[in-house]
Amino acid sequence: MAKPVIAIVGRPNVGKSTIFNRIVGERISIVEDIPGVTRDRIYSSAEWLNHDFNLIDTGGIDIGDEPFLDQIRMQAEIAIEEADVIIFITNGREGVTSADEEVAKILYKAKKPVVLAVNKVDNPDMREQIYDFYSLGFGEPFPISGSHGLGLGDLLDEAAKHFPKRDTKDYDDDVIKFSLIGRPNVGKSSLVNAMLGEERVIVSNVAGTTRDAIDSQVTVNGEEFVIIDTAGMRKKGKVYESTEKYSVLRALRAIERSDVVLVVIDGEEGIIEQDKKIAGYAHEAGRAVIIVVNKWDAVEKDEKTMKTFEQNIREHFLFLDYAPIVFLSAKTKKRIHTLIPMIKVASENHTRRVETSVLNDVIMDAVAMNPTPTDKGKRLKIYYTTQVAVGPPTFVVFVNDPELLHFSYERFLENRIRDAFGFEGTPIKIFARERK
Ligand code: GDP
Ligand code: GDP
Repeated sequence: MAKPVIAIVGRPNVGKSTIFNRIVGERISIVEDIPGVTRDRIYSSAEWLNHDFNLIDTGGIDIGDEPFLDQIRMQAEIAIEEADVIIFITNGREGVTSADEEVAKILYKAKKPVVLAVNKVDNPDMREQIYDFYSLGFGEPFPISGSHGLGLGDLLDEAAKHFPKRDTKDYDDDVIKFSLIGRPNVGKSSLVNAMLGEERVIVSNVAGTTRDAIDSQVTVNGEEFVIIDTAGMRKKGKVYESTEKYSVLRALRAIERSDVVLVVIDGEEGIIEQDKKIAGYAHEAGRAVIIVVNKWDAVEKDEKTMKTFEQNIREHFLFLDYAPIVFLSAKTKKRIHTLIPMIKVASENHTRRVETSVLNDVIMDAVAMNPTPTDKGKRLKIYYTTQVAVGPPTFVVFVNDPELLHFSYERFLENRIRDAFGFEGTPIKIFARERK
């Protein structure tokens, strides 16, 4: 089920990123541990009391060399496009400025609820400053202090009142949802077009809410698949759509709604840092992943080219060692037809449950082959292993002391599980718990 989305807008220096960080708290990201991959803190899931939502800091989306006013206008447009509720932030210490009025003008046009916040109201005697802000035309202003964490509860309660009532899921459980992610120009929209152009495919835009209408439903051999956010991939025109941060934002949102993520790389240009970052997000989200090398038609090849490229990918995407790689061309359609079957396999593995008795045989054999490690004279004992979840498959190993299950031995167990059961295309997670 899609979580409601709140976007924060406002001119620079009113405190947007301070408030964003306050609300999302310090979340530790696995991606940050992967060298060269740093978290863009513009999008995060967050919780407030019993509300689960996603939060966007549009202030973090810098739009090239556009003039100041155009930048903040575009950020407001992004908020309107992406969010269910908009929090418009102003600065109580400076009063209403003409830049605030510019933002307000854009937000008036939107049919999205706007909650107005006056930040930097650090103590109660400053509350009078909020009255000026009624003039912006968004009703009662909420006084807050991002740096002191004041007033955020009331503000979020108000925002939550406007969350859409979504009582059902977007799609049936048995429909496989997938998305194509990658930096601009790798060929995502060409690939979607190539897939939708296949004869066996029936296309229909999914009716319903506005957000669902951006997906495409395809039926292949009687089976339904949904391509998440095809509109986002296909339409181009707005200046901000080609910026890196915006494409990261779209990718994160598409990943969240997908079972399987196709990480698209430009075979002609090779791998760059941004590809790694985007792939890291898919991995971190625990989705099934397929690496797609597009534009293979444009690559000068000999018999070693594919092997070399593959090694290059494996070196750069160490964390995606489970992801199959396919070399294809949206232009010539070579191997396009292999995608749907691969997506299906990856999705099946992502939701696969293995039998507990077989799993424990595999672990026992593994321990017999490679004895458990010791630390300061104490040996790891594995009593029992069980699969506790799917999507991705998650295993709990009951042991004498979880500290003794070091990363390298955990890796070894993961490899034994993969050798025994496959799980191609999906990450798997292993946790150690102390047996009581
Ligand atoms: P952004 O450009 O809108 O994202 O603003 P920032 O979050 O970067 O904040 C701009 C400046 O305002 C920083 O120096 C913050 O420390 C400061 N700031 C943010 N929130 C508050 C607040 O509630 N009170 C005060 N006094 N300063 C704040
Ligand atoms: P997106 O931004 O990732 O959606 O990329 P597009 O689908 O818009 O493609 C970017 C450019 O790459 C366009 O000029 C496409 O014609 C070109 N392109 C896409 N796929 C292929 C391919 O398989 N081979 C070649 N040679 N060019 C391609």
